[in-house]
Amino acid sequence: MAKTALRDVRVFDGRGLTEPRTVVIDGSVLGTDSAGAREIDAAGATLLPGFIDAHVHLTAPEQLADLAAWGVTTALDMGCFPAERVAALRSAGPADFRSAGPPAIGPGGMHARIPGMPASSIVTTADAAVRFVEKRVAEGVDYVKGVAEAPGDGGPPAEALQALVDAARERGLHTVLHAATPGAYHLAVATGARFVTHVPTIGRIAAEDVAAMTAAGQTAVPTLTMMEAALTRFAGAAGDFVANAAALHAAGVEILAGTDANAQPGAPAEVAHGSSLHREFELLAEAGLTPAEILRAATVDPARAFGLTDRGEIRPGLRADLVLVEGDPVADLSATRAIRTVWCAGTEI
Ligand SMILES: [Zn+2]
Repeated sequence: MAKTALRDVRVFDGRGLTEPRTVVIDGSVLGTDSAGAREIDAAGATLLPGFIDAHVHLTAPEQLADLAAWGVTTALDMGCFPAERVAALRSAGPADFRSAGPPAIGPGGMHARIPGMPASSIVTTADAAVRFVEKRVAEGVDYVKGVAEAPGDGGPPAEALQALVDAARERGLHTVLHAATPGAYHLAVATGARFVTHVPTIGRIAAEDVAAMTAAGQTAVPTLTMMEAALTRFAGAAGDFVANAAALHAAGVEILAGTDANAQPGAPAEVAHGSSLHREFELLAEAGLTPAEILRAATVDPARAFGLTDRGEIRPGLRADLVLVEGDPVADLSATRAIRTVWCAGTEI
């Protein structure tokens, strides 16, 4: 297997940058022995674990290349259908792809109008929610996605959402619940779902719901890039999405970097794959996260939260998913855009 040694490179270790050192890529993983390796002088550059975008939607394999070009080596898809498309994307590369398959939705609201949304995604009873989860398990999904809406907004009823979360948990799967209004957020948090994604664009998350998330150890994937893009629908409004993320962070809720990147007809806004993650970093900084916290939110934290034990850090034995950038992104976050080289499982792209 081909070996590459990066010389004199500083490494993001989850807290800050190490002193310059040698990092060895040995085949698809990180190694220790640089004997016989091709050498790259990386003085002045920083090596980061490959980024994980914790909320994307893929419709075409080229989007995996777009993601990788911007340093996103793992794409956590939060709604993809039909099953044949999911299967094809799993082996397409170069970025690694995980998926919820289709989401569980209610009969009304925006999601029910997305072209191609399977009719079987509409879940209106607890029994239907259990059957939905059983079908996803049979398809081999990595987690379950559901859409919470405020009462009256056309989402699944509360008992169906609860049954979805419980049925997934009984089968060893986490649930990610979409919630983009304060009322939806209340419903989503109350189910105990492991992940709540989006934040209200307009309107504040209730303080009791923020406190409940902290107490339950739930994780938020705010997708501020999408909320910013969707704000154009609310002409003139300043938006509450950054303040909502700031409140979650201040309360100690774990925040992951996710963009809702998509090219999906019917979505509130199109968000570019890959480049959007760097905009998400800027918005997370506005919400009060430090650069080191933001880099964690796109590497080690999503790897742990989603059980991806083979990635998210730079140490021997883990997948060689790597981003080499010019400069010091802990001192200046904009350095994440100054990408020199990306490796996906040891393959330079
Ligand atoms: Zn989404």
